Amino acid sequence: MDDRLKAYRQRRDFHRTPEPDEPEPGAPGWLPALPALADGRFVIQEHHARRLHWDLRLEEDGVLRSWAVPKGVPLERGSRRLAVATEDHPLGYLDFEGEIPPGQYGAGRVLVWDRGYYRRVAARPGRLEVILIGQRVRGDYLLVHTGGDRWLLWKRFDEAGGQAED
Ligand code: MN
Repeated sequence: MDDRLKAYRQRRDFHRTPEPDEPEPGAPGWLPALPALADGRFVIQEHHARRLHWDLRLEEDGVLRSWAVPKGVPLERGSRRLAVATEDHPLGYLDFEGEIPPGQYGAGRVLVWDRGYYRRVAARPGRLEVILIGQRVRGDYLLVHTGGDRWLLWKRFDEAGGQAED
């Protein structure tokens, strides 16, 4: 599983960036324990890089599977946004906030925009459906691979997790 962090490490100089290096096996402090029905934690970070975007990260097999969402995670049912798959991040990134210095990969301020946990509804290659339970983001989200590193992030259901739209 360590291999999944190879790209993450290769892009960073840990003497310069405040970002976490090693995977952290223990649960980060901000959640006491994962609720019984949850499959993992998630975080959405607001990243003031050269282009402002939001990073969605889902805990999976000891790392954070990640997508950059240029327009932010949609909050309205039926709304779809481009999500660009990016390198897996270490679990320590779940509560990372800070300023990545100029000249470093992803330079700019990183703020936690939302976090919580998720439940996996369905998963197969190129398609992932989850229920996100956070402070700002709640409900059913579908991620569909559309080619290359491009995915579509689609909020399919209403706030109550009720009826499918189609
Ligand atoms: Mn980013």
